[in-house]
Amino acid sequence: MAEAGFYSVATGVEDADAAKCFLCGKELDGWESSDDPWEEHKSHAARCAFVQLGKKEDDLLLPEYLSIVKQYMINDIKRMADLAKEDISDKEEEVRRRCSGRK
Ligand SMILES: [Zn+2]
Repeated sequence: MAEAGFYSVATGVEDADAAKCFLCGKELDGWESSDDPWEEHKSHAARCAFVQLGKKEDDLLLPEYLSIVKQYMINDIKRMADLAKEDISDKEEEVRRRCSGRK
């Protein structure tokens, strides 16, 4: 599974096989012993740049590796921006609530 980009995100017995792609963030669980991690990754996250390369890390050429690193950084910045937007929305809502309570 690791060669197909997944790492464990299990939190207990109920999701013991939960795994997440390091690049696209797709989480999958309920793995069957016959499942092919590459095929599962492809079928659930066809746009993932790692899936599109279709190579395990050791087989990546330098430009491919660098494109993966670049995509990782872009995705990480997007995740941080989304968290910041949620935080701003929460604070905006809190300010609106406080202001409407003063009337
Ligand atoms: Zn992925």
